[in-house]
Amino acid sequence: MSESDVRVRFAPSPTGYPHVGNIRTALFNWLFARHSSGSFIVRIEDTDVNRKVKGAVEAILDSLRWLGIDWDEGPEVGGSYGPYFQSQRLDIYQKTAQHLLAEGHAYPCYCSEERLAQMRAEMAQRKESIRSYDRRCRNLTREERAKFEAQGIVPVIRFKIPLEGQTRFNDMIKGDVAFDNSTLDDFVLLKSDGYPTYHLANVIDDHLMKITHVLRADEWLSSTPRHLLLYSALGYQPPLFAHLPMILGTDRSKLSKRHGATSIIEYRDRGYLPQAMMNFLALLGWSLDDHTELFSKEELVQHFSIERISKTSAIFNLDKLKWMNGVYIRNFSTDALTDRLLPFLDRDLPQSVKRPLSREYVRQIIPLIRERLTTLGKVESATGAMAEAAPLYDFFFVDEPVYDTRLLLGKKLTREDAVRGLEAALERLQALPFDAKSLEDALRPLAAGLGLKAGDFFGLLRVAVTGRTAAPPLFQTMEALGQERCLKRIKAALKKLQDKR
Ligand code: GLU
Repeated sequence: MSESDVRVRFAPSPTGYPHVGNIRTALFNWLFARHSSGSFIVRIEDTDVNRKVKGAVEAILDSLRWLGIDWDEGPEVGGSYGPYFQSQRLDIYQKTAQHLLAEGHAYPCYCSEERLAQMRAEMAQRKESIRSYDRRCRNLTREERAKFEAQGIVPVIRFKIPLEGQTRFNDMIKGDVAFDNSTLDDFVLLKSDGYPTYHLANVIDDHLMKITHVLRADEWLSSTPRHLLLYSALGYQPPLFAHLPMILGTDRSKLSKRHGATSIIEYRDRGYLPQAMMNFLALLGWSLDDHTELFSKEELVQHFSIERISKTSAIFNLDKLKWMNGVYIRNFSTDALTDRLLPFLDRDLPQSVKRPLSREYVRQIIPLIRERLTTLGKVESATGAMAEAAPLYDFFFVDEPVYDTRLLLGKKLTREDAVRGLEAALERLQALPFDAKSLEDALRPLAAGLGLKAGDFFGLLRVAVTGRTAAPPLFQTMEALGQERCLKRIKAALKKLQDKR
């Protein structure tokens, strides 16, 4: 049982996979509910039959679960105000629409799609601002209606917007908002197939589910006067409204695929951590004090307030998310990180790498790569290029790293020097305890003995054993790779150089 009367809802339409904006809305509602010891309700607004996407409901619930957002009422858990799928509540909407008709707040409209399209085209021609409806059926006589009915036309039901006056409300974020009723159309409440529109179903359910606060995306602001008029026609007490700031890309345009992935599931699959994602989403339009960046889930619940939601748009910065993810990654213990990284390695490493992967081996390399990990999986940059995690650690696992022979020489070494260097290293490494300290103690003087700069010599070895010019610390890396692998890779490097001679 919740301890307060606060009841908020997340009301997604399953018309696609949930994106950052949807889930930010869910998170703010959830944080507000948990902060106020209220209830968080999930309601699926699935009345737009044509736009329903298969698998979308599961994707929405999976996204919430992944982030650790739990719901008190809704799909799977039920609750006293169900059903929580609007498609299972059609009779309620139909009855209410009939009631509005009977009370004179609504009217049947027989206009066909063709007529409406023509009407709009004519408005455009007359350079009028386009309205969705010209109210032609608002004042039909009883006889005229009967004529349409006799033709077997099934009407839609439209709401009668007052022709004059204003609808005002106090948005908890935006403050006073006013709409002239003359700018509002007689919107459809019930479609001819018996399905309600968003407006009707949303208002009825918020009322029946005893929602106290509606926190929703900015794009719904212009629906709110319609909803308020509907609340009033139905004699319902409206909830309080808070319209959340928009989320823009770093170029200040509407957030889209161009700014990186937008579906939450995609972030999960790329190896972002739910803790980091939650932290990041919470700061898209909310802040505690304009400078604190890192918050645990508990801290967010503790501090969240509607007062601190910003009026101005939030900027979605993928680099910041990566940074934050890196911070969370580094905060994990080696064991915890091993558990989280293993499934990603299993998925992302080339097929040639033997499975199952050795947990012990992964555990051993984690201290070497942790500092540079920003995600656990293969990452795509905003521009779509593959980068980071996988190549960063691939060489620890593959049989032989693939690289360009020229990398072995770097900027300074001649082929002869490189061959000499590798031969000497090979000999020295045959009979050496393979720990980082012994390796360093042996290899540093070896460079000097060969007349090579330590940096050049180590660069050569680094490429030979990892295939990369930048890699984790050389001697620890060699220790983790082990003697057998190192010798094999150095031999292969030698061969590459000699083959080119
Ligand atoms: N079903 C609407 C959506 O997809 C709900 C909007 C609202 O919260 O009222 O976002």
